[in-house]
Amino acid sequence: MQTGTTQIHRRRLIQLTGLAEVPLLFIGFKSFIEKSYLDASVLLISAVALLSVFWALHKGKQSLASFNFVLILTLMVLFLQWNFGGIIDVSMLALPGILIFSAMIGALRIYNGLLLIMVANVLLMGYMSDQGFMFLMPSNGISSAMNVAVILLVVGFATRILSRDNFSLLKQLRLQIEEAETARNVVEHQAYHDYLTDLPNRMMAEKTFLEIQQRLKRHPEMTGGVIYIDFDEFKDINDNLGHAVGDQFLIRKTKRLKECTRVTDTLCRIGGDEFLVLVEDANEVQLAQFAGKLLDEVMAVENFDGHSLHCTCSIGIVFLPKDAHTYEQAVQRADIAMYRSKHHGKNQFHFYDNAMETSVQRRYALQNRIAAAIVNKEFSIALQPIIEVSTGAVVGAEALARWDHPLLGSITPTEFIPIAENTGAIAEICDYVLTQTCQVLQQYKEEKPDFYISINISPIQLQVETFFKHCQLIVEQYGIRYSNLKFEITESQIISHDRVFQHNVDEIHKAGVGLFLDDFGTGFSNLSHLQKMKFETIKIDRSFIIDCYKDKNSVALLSSIKAMAEELQVTIVAEGIETEPELREVQRLGIHKGQGYYWSPPLEVEQFLQRYGVAVVS
Ligand code: C2E
Ligand code: MG
Ligand code: MG
Repeated sequence: MQTGTTQIHRRRLIQLTGLAEVPLLFIGFKSFIEKSYLDASVLLISAVALLSVFWALHKGKQSLASFNFVLILTLMVLFLQWNFGGIIDVSMLALPGILIFSAMIGALRIYNGLLLIMVANVLLMGYMSDQGFMFLMPSNGISSAMNVAVILLVVGFATRILSRDNFSLLKQLRLQIEEAETARNVVEHQAYHDYLTDLPNRMMAEKTFLEIQQRLKRHPEMTGGVIYIDFDEFKDINDNLGHAVGDQFLIRKTKRLKECTRVTDTLCRIGGDEFLVLVEDANEVQLAQFAGKLLDEVMAVENFDGHSLHCTCSIGIVFLPKDAHTYEQAVQRADIAMYRSKHHGKNQFHFYDNAMETSVQRRYALQNRIAAAIVNKEFSIALQPIIEVSTGAVVGAEALARWDHPLLGSITPTEFIPIAENTGAIAEICDYVLTQTCQVLQQYKEEKPDFYISINISPIQLQVETFFKHCQLIVEQYGIRYSNLKFEITESQIISHDRVFQHNVDEIHKAGVGLFLDDFGTGFSNLSHLQKMKFETIKIDRSFIIDCYKDKNSVALLSSIKAMAEELQVTIVAEGIETEPELREVQRLGIHKGQGYYWSPPLEVEQFLQRYGVAVVS
């Protein structure tokens, strides 16, 4: 395949050969008429010889064609010079033309050879002339003038064509450079900006951070910050109204956030609903004020086709240069601070501090180990007796999970249960606790057939279709009566009471496992749960028991819970009884059962069995 330049050269070679034929034929025939037969025959033979250029082109031999073209013309001119005027022959005018043609269309080797021949020829002619060689003097008449004019015209015309080629090539080149430049700018913009909001992206954020850091280093009196924004309910908007509305929502919020920023601040989008503001030149108070403004802007209601959308955000702030040395560190720490805001109820901001990192690192450490900890037998259960308040008899126990970490020591369930829920390890922990519980129940089976053990169940486990089926497989291995097993569920943790949840509750009831409502009174109580889940027992949270004998409000609340329990025919357990006066108040109110340090803290299984063995009734 021929390239664009080769094609232009081919076209130009055809044009130039045609053009060269004109003066050859013109001067050839003119010389013939003027009876200059030698001239005429040289020119006409050259004209015929030039036809070989067309032949070579036809055969596809372009280099040969170029070579023929310049060689024939050069030989002809040299011949004319030697036979006529030598150095001052008019044909000398044609030589620069031939050189230009050859430079434009021929190969470099041909051009160099030609130049050498021409220069050598001129020098030789001069030398020969000095040695007495007689050149014919050309006449200066109109005939010579016509020859010169034709040569000038042809050379001029050809040079014009060739220079036009150069101009158009240069123009094309300039256009291509401009296009390449525009394409490069577009690609660069895309690489550093977010497609949806056109805000700077992660890469740009990093670049800008480094620039700010350099400036802060140069001006030690200056301070700045990295603000991490994460929308709190954006997922709900996306899930309920679709991604198109979600996108529009983000675009509008971006506009609002942008309006809060100063020219020196850089607002970047680094994830779906995660934004960073890189703030240059601000102290902690200004950063806090700015964060407050951002919270207000995000809270503003947006209207979409009749829907009023409301969303809040959680913010984490890293103070520069104090709190971060690298971009990764800044983002990670701002993220930690942002999580603190989420954890504390969202729609607020927190500054990063070192203690946060320690708690996050601890959380990561626990998260990474929890699955292996079950296999490595780092878990155990503790049993805390549940007492019949009126008689002091031990009627049952609550099984509480314990984790003895080889490096960090004993970890409380309030710390590891949420981690287990997040990582999915909660199912294995539940299996473990249930298995241990069944083994203990086996020991009580004969001599104390009514003794029960309650285990704590995370509501998220009830969202698993096969949850209770799986528990049944374990219980049946030990031949335990279902009525000796109780499940405690903390009401405030119930996220959704859906079909699967109710299915598990129904299966639990069908089998005869009693349900206990744990920590009653904490969080928002939804009385419909009491009805739907048919709790057998309500465990009143410790917060109502502490010093209840002194506090009229607690007493009022406890007596109304007692009245409601009677109405619903459910038993009450008072949690966390620690002192004699608390116990007396509980007894006075007629609460049936109690649990707490007053009798015993949670005990290791061995200890529990020793103290509350099958024959013991305290
Ligand atoms: P909970 O079910 O309300 O358990 C009672 C908690 O109160 C236990 O804390 C217990 O040690 C403590 N306690 C008992 N009597 C007293 C007292 O007189 N005074 C005081 N100050 N505290 C008392 P623990 O063992 O740290 O458990 C905390 C929570 O962790 C439990 O609260 C339960 O919600 C959860 N949990 C424990 N084990 C498991 C488990 O195996 N699975 C699940 N899902 N959650 C569990
Ligand atoms: Mg409990
Ligand atoms: Mg409780």
